[in-house]
Amino acid sequence: MTTEAVHLLRQRGIQVTAQRLAVLRAVGSQPHITADRVAELVRAEIGAISHQSVYDALGVLVAGGLLRRIQPAGSSARFEDRVGDNHHHLICRSCGRMIDVDCAVGSAPCLTASEDSGYEIDEAEVVYWGRCPDCVAAASTSADSSSRAARAPRKTPRTPVRTARAPKRKRPERRRP
Ligand SMILES: [Zn+2]
Ligand SMILES: [Zn+2]
Repeated sequence: MTTEAVHLLRQRGIQVTAQRLAVLRAVGSQPHITADRVAELVRAEIGAISHQSVYDALGVLVAGGLLRRIQPAGSSARFEDRVGDNHHHLICRSCGRMIDVDCAVGSAPCLTASEDSGYEIDEAEVVYWGRCPDCVAAASTSADSSSRAARAPRKTPRTPVRTARAPKRKRPERRRP
């Protein structure tokens, strides 16, 4: 892996450093890993490394196309080294487990938008949200053992109806030189 990684970095014109290699290895070992977890793994491997250095390395590797960054709504960014195939993700709402899922049909048909409006599209991000099999099983077991009331659908908390628009960001005042 290491020689391969060195080769990949050089190929993309990215300077090879022990930190970048360790970050690559960490992401390779745990797909959909968070930056915090990468930092833990890298520290275990090469010793002290600042959070900032981990973020920087991740940024360089993402920019170089060696890693893909996914930012699911309400979750911290995740990183993976399966790049370039435009695969999608299944995420469990309960436990947050994330797994890969190929494009619905063919190689990367999702990249063909019904209307591209002239954009040059290179990625489509599809997230299927739901519950993983374990969480579904856990929920049905607890439903059997606990009272029905507990299972009764919680009233959705009333979200304030947005009557007014969210406060507009102040238009940038004329900048003082
Ligand atoms: Zn789950
Ligand atoms: Zn993935």
